[in-house]
Amino acid sequence: MSDQTPLHSTDPDNAKRYREQRARKTDPELLISGILQGDRVALSRAITLIESKKASHREVANTIINACLPHASRSVRIGITGVPGVGKSSFIEAFGKYLVRQGKKLAVLAVDPSSTRTHGSILGDKTRMQDLVLSEDAFIRPSPSGETAGGVARKTRETIILCEAAGFDTVIIETVGVGQGELAVHSMVDFFLLLKLAGAGDELQGIKRGIMEMADSVVINKCDGTNVKPAKKAQGEFKRALHLYPPKPGGWQPEVLTASALEETGIEAVWHTISECLVLRRKQGIFETNRREQNRMWLRNTIEDQLLSDFYGDPKIRAAFEEQLTAVENNTVSPFAAAQYLLGLSRQ
Ligand code: GDP
Repeated sequence: MSDQTPLHSTDPDNAKRYREQRARKTDPELLISGILQGDRVALSRAITLIESKKASHREVANTIINACLPHASRSVRIGITGVPGVGKSSFIEAFGKYLVRQGKKLAVLAVDPSSTRTHGSILGDKTRMQDLVLSEDAFIRPSPSGETAGGVARKTRETIILCEAAGFDTVIIETVGVGQGELAVHSMVDFFLLLKLAGAGDELQGIKRGIMEMADSVVINKCDGTNVKPAKKAQGEFKRALHLYPPKPGGWQPEVLTASALEETGIEAVWHTISECLVLRRKQGIFETNRREQNRMWLRNTIEDQLLSDFYGDPKIRAAFEEQLTAVENNTVSPFAAAQYLLGLSRQ
């Protein structure tokens, strides 16, 4: 799918060719067959359509997603979270290279709602994952920009489907361990990995209980140099702490491992743990049940998102909303009555 006729050409033939090339970029049939043949350009273009705010692009994107669905679901989906600086991208680089050496085809996506972004969004910085980016067997896609948490999550889920249809058998979804990202990622993966650092004896403090409960395993990263001893100590503390949580469905007991993304050590053990857990879950039918539950949840979420955006996007509501807010603030109308009035308007 190589193209590129100059945009400023005055030659009518060139202009026609340019229009045709543009049409090809959004032609669902071409994109679908490209994706199913593993064409990364077609995959990237289709993801751009998923991320687009244009209604016509959304329509094409939906056609592509529907065509890809029967070819999806065959991958292993792994979520990786941790606070900024813990070494997520370094770890994914080392882990990803290991997986590619094992013959896997790897897609790395990010769930990075703009609200959690500081400078340099995750995966947005081109210098990250330098080796993996060059690999023929890896596809790396940053988080869509300018999106709400719900928007990023939906788009990432749809992107997973396209990546799987394009033949990627392992999908890693990276998220920053602050904000709502990890909850969304947990609900789209088969295995959820928490990266941690050894600190000065305060490892267990400041961890959101929810994240620990979600984790299928914990990796203490940066276990190298003078940090080996503290990392091993932290490993012991996490093991004890995790034993206090109720076991996961099927009896899976989360492992606590150590690794160094920098020295690329401990990486294989992480993959063994993930594989062991997934073999167990498949045997017990939990793997499939999880995915079915996730699909049900995403159906409900999509409906709720759509209803909300239809409601707030309705010009009648936009006109009346501020007025009702002021009335509620001034106690001239009760919040309940204002809500009933606005909901009534949206149904007219
Ligand atoms: P992220 O923000 O979680 O994606 O973290 P990065 O992967 O960008 O890493 C943050 C910093 O930690 C960088 O300076 C890395 O070089 C460093 N780092 C990452 N992994 C390791 C590791 O295993 N050992 C050591 N010593 N440093 C690491």
